Amino acid sequence: MDKPLQNKIAIVTGSTAGIGEGIVRRFAAEGAKVVVSGLEKKTGERIAASIRLAGGEAVFQFADLRKPEHCKALIRRAVDEFGGLDVLVNNAGIYPHSKFEETTADFWDTIFEINARGVFLCVQAAAPAMRARGGGSIINIGSCCAFQHYEGLFAYGATKGTLYHMTMAMARKFAPDHIRANWITVGWVPTENERKVEAAEGHDEAWYEQARQRLPGQEFQTVDDVAAGCVFLAGGEARQVTGSDLRVTGGQCVRF
Ligand code: NAD
Repeated sequence: MDKPLQNKIAIVTGSTAGIGEGIVRRFAAEGAKVVVSGLEKKTGERIAASIRLAGGEAVFQFADLRKPEHCKALIRRAVDEFGGLDVLVNNAGIYPHSKFEETTADFWDTIFEINARGVFLCVQAAAPAMRARGGGSIINIGSCCAFQHYEGLFAYGATKGTLYHMTMAMARKFAPDHIRANWITVGWVPTENERKVEAAEGHDEAWYEQARQRLPGQEFQTVDDVAAGCVFLAGGEARQVTGSDLRVTGGQCVRF
């Protein structure tokens, strides 16, 4: 039996670390040809090599999503290397903390450049390639911060709220092209970088343990939990699923 993503061509932005790395590895295991991308060149090359060693197809493309030409080159790499593009996971994102009162114009611009404008530029470049294949799947990695206020994450929440709007607008815009656009609300995944951000706020293991106990299901989410949602949204089983919000939150920020 074919794997769920057999012969699909996928790009995962920000797949040189954390959640993105988990998604790209899982996509490759499910049969996709993948473009690994992000800022960490050596790590990205290593991830692509290890996928190839395991029998998969993968290349690494360095792309700084603040640069429009890098966004275009990233999409072009999938087309040049594998012959097209079926799936784009917009996972790259930064979530530095800044108090509302201390947030500068530069901070605001940088976080929007990466978390929102970079996604727009990638999708703008990806849409013609997907159209040429008769359709595709765009998956935007979101956060509870789009729907709730968290101290220190005002600007970040604004980027994710923007991304949520973009997802739904893309779902409508691209429906005639059979390009689907979906959003995953990610709860809390203590990745290496997420831990660094919290450590900078003075939060230690004991703080994480208390935080975990306060979660509705008393569990953090994992990279694999998010990757599993992406496999579903990328694959043929989701052919009629667009404009959806898949909550991988363990019960956090549930809405009625
Ligand atoms: P991470 O910091 O571990 O990895 C981020 C990735 O994005 C890296 O590969 C990095 O190279 C890439 N990146 C950063 N700036 C970039 C730029 N300018 N151009 C291109 N790539 C860039 O992050 P993570 O914790 O795995 O989170 C991944 C995504 O999930 C983000 O969009 C984040 O907002 C979202 N999210 C994370 C959590 C969590 O708890 N970790 C919760 C909700 C949402």
